[in-house]
Amino acid sequence: MTAPFRFRIHQHGPAGSPAREAFEPADPKPGWVRLELRAMALNRLDLWTTEGLPGYPLPLPLTPGCDGAGVVEAVGGGTVLPPGVEAGGSVMIAPGLSCGACPACLRGDDMLCGSYGVLGHASDGTAATHVLVPAANLLPIPGNWSFEQAAAFPLVFLTAWEMLVHKAALRPGETVLVWGGGSGVGSAAIQLVKALGGFAIAVVGSEAKAIRCWELGAEHVIVRGDMKALAAKVRELTGKRGVDVVFEHTGAATWGTSLSVCARGGRIVTCGATTGRETAFDLRTLFAKQIQIRGSYMGRREHLWTLLALLQRNPTNPPFRPVIERVFDLLEYPEAQRHLEAGNGFGKVVCRVA
Ligand SMILES: [Zn+2]
Repeated sequence: MTAPFRFRIHQHGPAGSPAREAFEPADPKPGWVRLELRAMALNRLDLWTTEGLPGYPLPLPLTPGCDGAGVVEAVGGGTVLPPGVEAGGSVMIAPGLSCGACPACLRGDDMLCGSYGVLGHASDGTAATHVLVPAANLLPIPGNWSFEQAAAFPLVFLTAWEMLVHKAALRPGETVLVWGGGSGVGSAAIQLVKALGGFAIAVVGSEAKAIRCWELGAEHVIVRGDMKALAAKVRELTGKRGVDVVFEHTGAATWGTSLSVCARGGRIVTCGATTGRETAFDLRTLFAKQIQIRGSYMGRREHLWTLLALLQRNPTNPPFRPVIERVFDLLEYPEAQRHLEAGNGFGKVVCRVA
C-alpha cells in the first residue's frame, strides 16, 4: 500500500480541482473508527462540495467523498460496533452524520437532525486512503459484493428508497416517471420501483441508455427530446391519466413537464436540481390536479439496514444492485469528477484504492 494520501479542497473551484496531498491518518476517538478505504463512489454532492454552494459555507479545507467501503483498521476506545461488523472486517459506510441525541435523531429521523450533514460535505470524506467515521455509520457488505459495489450503493439507494417509500408512499401497481434513468440515483430508482411492485417509465438521453434501463426493469423508456412530445408519450402510456409519482432530481429543465404529466392526486418527489434550482410554474396546475410536492434529502440511516435485509434474503439474485459505469484509480479522483460532470455514462463512477 502506498503512503496515506487524500484529496483536499482548499478553495472552491471547478470539477477536478481538489489537490492530492500526503497526510497522517488520525486515531479514532471513542465511538469512532478508522477505515482503510478500498473503494469510494462519486456523487453529485462531490461536485457541489468542490464548486461551492452559494449561501452554504463549508468547513474548508475539506476532503470530498460521501460513499466508501473498506476495512476497519482502528477502533476508538470503548466503541460498540454494529451487528455483523468487526475490527479487521469489511464494511460499507452510511454517509449521513447526525448528533444522535436530539428528538429527531431519537425517533430515527436522523436526516432531520439540526446538525445533519453528509460525509465529505460536513466533514472529511472518502476521497482518501483512510477516513474516520462514527461506528454507528458502518454496515456489513451484502453477499459477495466487491468493495466497488459496496461503495456505489449507500447514498443513491438510501435516497431513492426514502423518496419512493416514505415521501411518495408508492403503492404496488402505480406508475413512476424516473427522470435521468442513467444516473446513479435514477438507475437505483428504476430497480426499486420494480422491487416495490410499481412500473417505471424511465427518461434517458440516448438509445444506448434506453437499453440499459430495460435491463434494469423499466416498463417503458423514453429517449428525451422535445418536452411536449415526451408529455404526450407519457399520457399515451398511462391511458391519458398521467403518472402517479414523478421521481425528480433534474430541476428547472423538467419541472414544468413533471407537473403536466403528474396524474390528479399524484406526487412529485425531488432530491436535486442538476439543470437549475429556480423555476416558475402555474399554481393552478398544482391545486386543480391536487398534486403533492415533497422535497427529500438522503434518508434514515436505519433504512440502509432495511435494504441490507432485502438483499440478504436473496444474495445470489438480489432484487437490486448498484450499476457501476466506470472504475478509476483513486489517484485519478479529479479526472473521475470531470467524468461525472460530463454525465455521459450510465450508473455510478467509482474509484478503487490500489
Ligand atoms: Zn440529532
